[in-house]
Amino acid sequence: MRHIAILGSTGSIGTQTLQVIEANPEQFSVSVLSAHSNDSLLEEQIEKFRPELVVLTDKSAAERLAKRYKGKTRILSGEEGLIEAAIHPRSHIVLTALVGFAGLRPTLAAISAKKTIALANKETLVAAGEIVTKAAKENHVAIIPVDSEHSAIFQCLQGINMTSVRKLLLTASGGPFRTLNKEQLKTVGVSDCLKHPNWSMGKKITVDSATLANKGLEVIEARWLFDVSYDQIEVIVHPQSIIHSMVELIDGCVLAQLGLPDMRAPIQYALTYPERSTANFGRLDFSKIKSFTFEQPDTDIFTALSMAYEAGRKGGAFPCVFNAANEIAVQAFLSGKIEFLHIADIIRSSLNAFEASDSVTLEALLQADAWARKRAAEDIASLT
Ligand code: NAD
Ligand code: MG
Repeated sequence: MRHIAILGSTGSIGTQTLQVIEANPEQFSVSVLSAHSNDSLLEEQIEKFRPELVVLTDKSAAERLAKRYKGKTRILSGEEGLIEAAIHPRSHIVLTALVGFAGLRPTLAAISAKKTIALANKETLVAAGEIVTKAAKENHVAIIPVDSEHSAIFQCLQGINMTSVRKLLLTASGGPFRTLNKEQLKTVGVSDCLKHPNWSMGKKITVDSATLANKGLEVIEARWLFDVSYDQIEVIVHPQSIIHSMVELIDGCVLAQLGLPDMRAPIQYALTYPERSTANFGRLDFSKIKSFTFEQPDTDIFTALSMAYEAGRKGGAFPCVFNAANEIAVQAFLSGKIEFLHIADIIRSSLNAFEASDSVTLEALLQADAWARKRAAEDIASLT
């Protein structure tokens, strides 16, 4: 029996993780649930999965819930609560399904407590890849990818020596605006972004998929997960989202992982790894697949992708700045304050103005993150 802590249980990945757990009650149980604020969904989850600890980052919501579950379930709040959620002694695996840089401290705490990390929260690895992977190595902790592309690569790499790998081919759906030109992109709104062709996801990653910042974040995520150089990571647009990513080996052979676009598959693999379990997420029917197509991403239009490569290659705190500026810009776009194309402008502005320090300590990253958030907020204010 593997006991799972879910950070971000009420979101898209969190709820799909609970579906996987519910379908395999003899294999998994829920030790911890956490969410940003209380809602009826979280209460349903508590009733159904009976976790030992529940954490809400919103303090007043946690107080209300604590009254309701007094004497039955331990309820904690705030960032300290989230750290408790990450290190709960009963958990074997911590599945990080919260959004953004907020995942960094709890992920580091879980690693120090020697929990296996099932990582969905890619922003953490983007912002602090060196620190997180170093901590994982020192603590002999595995970081198992949940992101579908990285899960695909991870699956392809089973039994493969990294010295045999020439490059990783990250596939991208291209997002809902793949065929639009710059002029057309000026007027797209939030509701247009949220109509993603193949995946249904949380709001932030849905906007990231439309700007291709998501693919940029994934390039940096892959660099750290698989310890490869940026020259060894290629992005290829595959609008059908059936090939979830590929690995090219030094002898020219290419390995790919295919499946229907359903996040429960990589989630389940992260939880059962290195074993597999039967699942009923739907199966590929090759007699019905008309074609697989591939194209180059248009980085003149979707500049967030090339800026992610640039930030990654510069290294240090640049990826952290890229991520922070993007987080703030996406929030502003979602609340109707800025236009779609402003998101990339705001990232550009932060990357151009950032003055790197030599060290990549946690303290330096926290400072860079705060600096970029402030800078992005100023840029947004000047636009509105
Ligand atoms: P979501 O917005 O649907 O859910 C986020 C969850 O985290 C919610 O439970 C929310 O209450 C909680 N949360 C949000 N902000 C928080 C904070 N500051 N502190 C604590 N809890 C917080 O998001 P999602 O789409 O499930 O994505 C989660 C993560 O997984 C992201 O990093 C995303 O990039 C990654 N991811 C998602 C998908 C997908 O299909 N949704 C695929 C690959 C990777
Ligand atoms: Mg992905």
